[in-house]
Amino acid sequence: MIVLRTERELEILRRAGSITAGLREVARRAIRPGIRTRDLDAVVADAIVLAGAASNFKGYHGFPATVCVSVNDEVVHGIPSDRRLEMGDVVSVDLGAVWRGYHGDSAFTVALGEVAPRVRELIEATEEAMWRGIEACRPGNRVGDISAAVEAVARRHGLGVVREFVGHGVGRAMHEEPQVPNYGSAGTGPVLRRGMVLAIEPMFTLGDAAVRVLDDGWTVVTVDGSTAAHFEHTVAVGDPPEVLTLEPDRPLAAAGDGHG
Ligand code: MG
Ligand code: MG
Repeated sequence: MIVLRTERELEILRRAGSITAGLREVARRAIRPGIRTRDLDAVVADAIVLAGAASNFKGYHGFPATVCVSVNDEVVHGIPSDRRLEMGDVVSVDLGAVWRGYHGDSAFTVALGEVAPRVRELIEATEEAMWRGIEACRPGNRVGDISAAVEAVARRHGLGVVREFVGHGVGRAMHEEPQVPNYGSAGTGPVLRRGMVLAIEPMFTLGDAAVRVLDDGWTVVTVDGSTAAHFEHTVAVGDPPEVLTLEPDRPLAAAGDGHG
């Protein structure tokens, strides 16, 4: 069932989204060569506490950390660890906040220092695809319009589209209906209506799109070892669409110090 949110619920989702946006900026500022991914996790964990919110990943089906940090051939769900980020790494962070029982969900990918032009293209195209998908989040469109808009960008750039993990509804749970695949045909799937809140989250790869899960039970990697990128925003369907995780409503900066 696809739940339509009331205006009161949307207000809470806006706050969850703006907190999530603040966490994303905290993470972005903390990423640098030499930092351990578990320190990045700790920085965001502190910021969530300061915001009076909770992580939506910690404990989710047993996930052991506050954020997901996925490096290079890791696509999503990387577990923060003693791994130290290095120049040339491609780092994806997926995070979110729960505020008064409602979720925000957002992800981004950055490269540390100089990377090959093709890697730069992967990152930029994945972000562009997210924005194309967001543009399609309008009443009267269908889920397939989002999917087709996202997939078209990957095709144009010759990139792989991960199929096993998809966008989703967001609300009282992090993952609600409908599923929003990053591939598909325009004009198909559920009709979008005001009150729907969706996570739009393309995951593209430089090589083949096939993925597998490591023995840790979480980390999703490309089978061929090629680099992956992931961007995500939580969006309220509207005309224009409203990106709930776009802007922090107040800085969560102080939490960025003291780790790593
Ligand atoms: Mg996410
Ligand atoms: Mg998501």
